[in-house]
Amino acid sequence: MGRNNGKIKFSIAIINIVLVLVLLFFSYQKYQNIKTLNSKKDKIKEEYQVLMKDQNIDENEINEINNKINELENIDETILNKKNEVFKLASELEKKIKNKETDKKIVYLTFDDGPYYNTYKVLKILKENHVKATFFTTNVNGEHCYDNRNYVCHDVYAAIAKDNHTIANHTYTHGWNRGLYKSADSFIDAIKRQEELIKSKTGLVTNIARFPGGSGTPIAQRGRSGLNAMIEKLRENNYGWVDWTAQDGDGGYLPNYDTGWKNLMQSINEPLEVVLFHDYHAVTTAILPNFIKYLQEKNYIILPLFYDSVMINK
Ligand SMILES: [Zn+2]
Repeated sequence: MGRNNGKIKFSIAIINIVLVLVLLFFSYQKYQNIKTLNSKKDKIKEEYQVLMKDQNIDENEINEINNKINELENIDETILNKKNEVFKLASELEKKIKNKETDKKIVYLTFDDGPYYNTYKVLKILKENHVKATFFTTNVNGEHCYDNRNYVCHDVYAAIAKDNHTIANHTYTHGWNRGLYKSADSFIDAIKRQEELIKSKTGLVTNIARFPGGSGTPIAQRGRSGLNAMIEKLRENNYGWVDWTAQDGDGGYLPNYDTGWKNLMQSINEPLEVVLFHDYHAVTTAILPNFIKYLQEKNYIILPLFYDSVMINK
């Protein structure tokens, strides 16, 4: 028994030692773990602080970028709102002019039958003079520019829209002598097709039209009732229409600058004028800068056409 007791005591002592060693081992492990954890924590804290610092800078930058993106997203709307403000003021001014309550005058410069490659020259002159105009577009010249067959003229639509001019409808075919005015339906069909083209190239929907050859041409071909039926179709499709009150004569034979200038001087005399040009004509491109200066000296405000203008027939 005595021997056994001794063995048991010895065994217990061994177990105790082993236990202490195990505990020491675990304690050491735990200590090591805590040490690692603490250093990890410090590192994370450090990284987080750096991150926070970076994040602050980024946050401002991100906010700025987001604001800019929002501005970009709303830019069309902003321009549209500004345009509408200008048109509202112009509408009030037109009424004052009509009632002879002001000595201000308004002129609407319009360019027909494009786009052409030369339209870029017109756009450049307008931009240099801070002037907005109206372009009555047609697809009669096809996808490629009539005056530069190597160039995709459909690209000019976007250039006109980008400069915030008014893009108007001059029918898809321009075929005044090729059945355009055969009926009100054939006419409105050519209007709708051009509307689709403008929309696909610019995203804009126009509601201003001009009869190819002027409204006198359908009258000549279909009589007053024929024109009225076409106007009715325009109304049904929310369109207004406009002829012109002045021109340099570039739609016909225009030999030189002096003739064009003389034509303009003879036709400009009212406080509200709509001037007809064609954006392919070299004489018109040459006249335009001086004509703009002349109009401004004569107290004319140059504006793009808008649906509510008194000059637009509805
Ligand atoms: Zn025309």
